[in-house]
Amino acid sequence: MRTPFVAGNWKMNKTGEEARLLVSELLPALQPITTVERAICPPFPYLLPLANMLKGSGIGLGAQNMHWEASGAFTGEVAPAMVAEFCQYVILGHSERRAYFHETDEMVNKKVKAALAIGLTPIMCVGETLSENEAGLTAEVVTRQTRLGLAGISAEEVSRVVIAYEPVWAIGTGKAATAQQAQDVHARIIRPVLREMFGETAAQAMRIQYGGSVNSKNAAELFAMPDIDGALVGGASLKAPEFIAIVQAAAEAKK
Ligand code: PEP
Repeated sequence: MRTPFVAGNWKMNKTGEEARLLVSELLPALQPITTVERAICPPFPYLLPLANMLKGSGIGLGAQNMHWEASGAFTGEVAPAMVAEFCQYVILGHSERRAYFHETDEMVNKKVKAALAIGLTPIMCVGETLSENEAGLTAEVVTRQTRLGLAGISAEEVSRVVIAYEPVWAIGTGKAATAQQAQDVHARIIRPVLREMFGETAAQAMRIQYGGSVNSKNAAELFAMPDIDGALVGGASLKAPEFIAIVQAAAEAKK
């Protein structure tokens, strides 16, 4: 039985004041839902104040990116230990990082290894673009991203990794994958790759989130699928009632 995990990716949104207000709205509603692992991933400058607000709440904090090097002349970058000072999670290889900042599978792999080494839980994003989907390349792309992203990691370590399947065509478009589409990618593509690379025990233990236009209306149907172990939520994580409803849907579906 995998613990469902719902994480909010705030992307580059909210003022500091809005961020604190959102957390103050989330806290009382999310704290009691202990059957679901829940986390928010705000922009870097808000990690310290929000870490203080979340202390002892059971709600986790994540960064949206980090560098793999421990320190040095990397202007504008943030090191694993800096993230680990405030966070339990880090989103890695998000499609926006891959598309706009030219992150490769090799870079994502270095980041996943660095996150594991410092004790962070990496949320590694994979997913095909619309043109890849239309060309029938979903299995090929998702298999490559999963394989290369997790290359050289042991079965013991990898069970701490969370995979987020985020079809790029579903992100921020309001056009989510159907529950069956997502289930098929999780159960027929990603989990078999994990099984082949790390064995049955690790493959069964690993959480695979779905991400892409998840909201309070489609969450229950998605979470009803056996291989959808939670969600990485973008836009809907910026509104307290929406994010709370999604976490509640996970608790309901996975009890
Ligand atoms: C995301 O960017 O991780 C995401 C899933 O975004 P949205 O929910 O807005 O589609």
